[in-house]
Amino acid sequence: MSDAKPAAPAAGAGRASMKKELPERFRNHKHVWVFIEMERGVVHPVSFELLGQGRKLADKLGVELAGVVMGAPGPDILHACQESFAYGADLCYTIENPVLADYRNEPYSKALTAVVEAHKPEILLLGATTLGRDLAGSVATTLLTGLTADCTELNVDDDKSLAATRPTFGGSLLCTIYTLNFRPQMATARPRAMPMPERKEGREGRIVPFAVDLHEQDIITKILSFIPDRDSNKTNLAFADVVVAGGMGLQGPENFQLVKNLAAVLGAEYGCSRPLVQKGWVPSDRQIGQTGKTIRPKLYIAAGISGAIQHRVGVEGADLIVAINTDKNAPIYDFAHLGIVTDAVRFLPALTEAFRKRLS
Ligand code: FAD
Repeated sequence: MSDAKPAAPAAGAGRASMKKELPERFRNHKHVWVFIEMERGVVHPVSFELLGQGRKLADKLGVELAGVVMGAPGPDILHACQESFAYGADLCYTIENPVLADYRNEPYSKALTAVVEAHKPEILLLGATTLGRDLAGSVATTLLTGLTADCTELNVDDDKSLAATRPTFGGSLLCTIYTLNFRPQMATARPRAMPMPERKEGREGRIVPFAVDLHEQDIITKILSFIPDRDSNKTNLAFADVVVAGGMGLQGPENFQLVKNLAAVLGAEYGCSRPLVQKGWVPSDRQIGQTGKTIRPKLYIAAGISGAIQHRVGVEGADLIVAINTDKNAPIYDFAHLGIVTDAVRFLPALTEAFRKRLS
């Protein structure tokens, strides 16, 4: 249902021949929606990042930006709506039902599908989180529409169709995917792939309640207890302001401690390239890149990392990238803002000591 083509020089060029007339049943689809992901009363920041991007799309299309908030009845719903307005939503559809207290695919898919069928958005965006990926796939399947997963860029063409760009062929190419003949056009984006928009305190919007017939006895999956994932709570890599990472240039697992030491002095999070995870030197939740975390820190220090495309896509949103690499021709120097051509194993302790003295 989605039409994939390699990213064209001008988005949309040469695509006219692929476009059929939009079927009559989709012509009244309008507005941009963002699914507001909330777990245990906490809205996932990716929802705000998507509202920032959704705002731009809605303004380009001259339509409204709506959030969809669902959960158990209670103050969390109102709070999530207010936060959505502060980050750019004009209105929020709310679905309150005790069955929606914790995420389960079946009731969430049913609720989101029902509100889409009733109010007909032209674009529907979700975070590419564990929850968002699970929900987006089943909703797109139920609605028989196209879904572009893990987008790094979202735009609208001159003919107003959604141009959803994502890495393809192992990250070596970018591909722009269109859902030309179905609605809504669905896409997911990973946390930190889009910048966080400015929060405007006190910005107001409309709340539109939506009722869905959901009953606990009809849901096959039951939640018996909730066990927080303690390990993943410890890692704030995706949202850290400063990240220090190490790669194969560190030459051995023992030297990864040098990365951790610098991170500790800077109050930073630490991460790594993929081979370190594959070798079992560092846990997988520390991997940065296409198949790891996307980061957008103010400062990213990469020590002994070559800068392969699969790593680059996860870090190029950083404000300042500092690379430490012995090879002055390493690809990382193509996109680093500052390069230090030296042995990271010798340089990291000196840098750590210099910061320790300066910051103490
Ligand atoms: P290398 O490529 O081995 O580079 C080591 C670098 O260290 C070299 O540039 C070298 O000059 C330098 N060096 C050597 N000695 C020193 C020294 N003493 N001091 C300083 N520098 C030194 N990779 C990721 O990182 N994240 C991903 O999410 C990811 N996903 C992938 C998905 C797919 C489908 C595929 C195919 C690959 C993926 N990769 C990913 C792997 C990626 O292609 C690279 O292989 C990987 O990023 C290389 O890691 P590296 O830079 O640490 O190691």
